Amino acid sequence: MAQVESRARATSDPDARREALKRLQDENVDFLLLWFTDIEGHLKSFAVTPSEVEEALNDGMGFDGSSITGFNAIEESDMVAIPDPSTFQLMPAREGEMKMARMICDIVTPDGKPYEGDPRYVLRRALERMRALGFDTFNVGPELEYFLFENDKGTETLDEGGYFAMTTLDAASGLRQETVHALESMGIPIEYVHHEVGPSQHEIDMRFAPALEMADHTVTYRLIVKEIAKKAGYHATFMPKPIFGENGSGMHTHQSLFSDGRNAFFDGDDRWHLSAAGKAFIAGQLRHAREIAGIFAQWVNSYKRLVPGYEAPVYVAWSQRNRSALIRIPLYKPGSEQATRAEIRCPDPACNPYLTFAALLHAGLEGIEQGYELPEPMETNLYHLTPEQRRERGIVSLPETLGEAIDALAESELARKALGPHIFDRYIELKRKEWDEYRVQLTGWELERYLSVL
Ligand code: GLU
Ligand code: MG
Repeated sequence: MAQVESRARATSDPDARREALKRLQDENVDFLLLWFTDIEGHLKSFAVTPSEVEEALNDGMGFDGSSITGFNAIEESDMVAIPDPSTFQLMPAREGEMKMARMICDIVTPDGKPYEGDPRYVLRRALERMRALGFDTFNVGPELEYFLFENDKGTETLDEGGYFAMTTLDAASGLRQETVHALESMGIPIEYVHHEVGPSQHEIDMRFAPALEMADHTVTYRLIVKEIAKKAGYHATFMPKPIFGENGSGMHTHQSLFSDGRNAFFDGDDRWHLSAAGKAFIAGQLRHAREIAGIFAQWVNSYKRLVPGYEAPVYVAWSQRNRSALIRIPLYKPGSEQATRAEIRCPDPACNPYLTFAALLHAGLEGIEQGYELPEPMETNLYHLTPEQRRERGIVSLPETLGEAIDALAESELARKALGPHIFDRYIELKRKEWDEYRVQLTGWELERYLSVL
């Protein structure tokens, strides 16, 4: 693979770089994997030998961007991946295999400029906007849910366990433990681990971290969960709604802004213990949720999850208790100022985490910048309100289909600003195509319902 020449574009932090090179040698690593994602969040990886790594850190490694979904077309396809040494981690050891490590890359153009089609750059830009508004950290804690199936050909479950199910019903608890070990060995601290509501559905929760680090953790998490399941002969999936009539898989995301080590969402004198910034941030996410739904719920299947009755949000409202609301503010406990946070419940775990965290942050910051007012909370079960009651209370719904979500996204100034025009145009084109392909399909439901009677 060709290397590019100029040294001017080296982005490495010297300490992280020294440390990564040292570990590479001390651990006798055979191959270094270089990772990045396409615009849908699929992990892309290529391997280099240790002898190439110093050059890669200096100048990056060239690759053909035209084969990556959402990257440049063939005529301007030379791209360069520059590994970020602070993301160096050893891959979990597999018996009989070579020793591998990984670093996550930023993508630049051959003349050294950040590539606008790189999802990691989209998140970096969102964080810049945050800093310009006086905050220094966007902390996020996503709760990724997933199903384990016998294989990838169908949805045969491994157990009939439910929420917090224990022992015999929960055949996969050993597998979860192994997954937790592997994640922790890759520098991802884990807080909660449990069986979820659906049969064969699980959740492993990572400790919150700053958004860029957490997006890196999230793509790593998905790979590790899948690899460990596969090693045991099973298939793990983050598909948002794999089984009709059961809960889908969400990625509830806890969020807070910090400045100078203090939680900027907390105000002890407020009736909800929320600061003006916290309230405006939540108001921003509520106001813009419909427009950015196509980012945090990006697949046709995502909208099969966002339906009433399965603990997934449908209506745009916030609450302190109610899990049918789009945003929940976990109740304040005395002494836990630093834990004040907004849990947004609509994203699903098959999103691109870089784009999702960026879009969520932009929506919240828009609220702060424009001084949006937070509506009253809705403490009733929103699934039980009639359409008239919702209209009276001014509660709107999330899009019902990917098609509706893409129409809203295409009209959104905020999304265009968040994604940048390059990704925005490609993303809409790609997702429209997906929707168009789906909407002309004939389903078993239609044949069963109509064929004999029409
Ligand atoms: N699985 C539900 C969802 O789709 C969430 C269940 C829970 O409260 O953790 O969002
Ligand atoms: Mg859950």
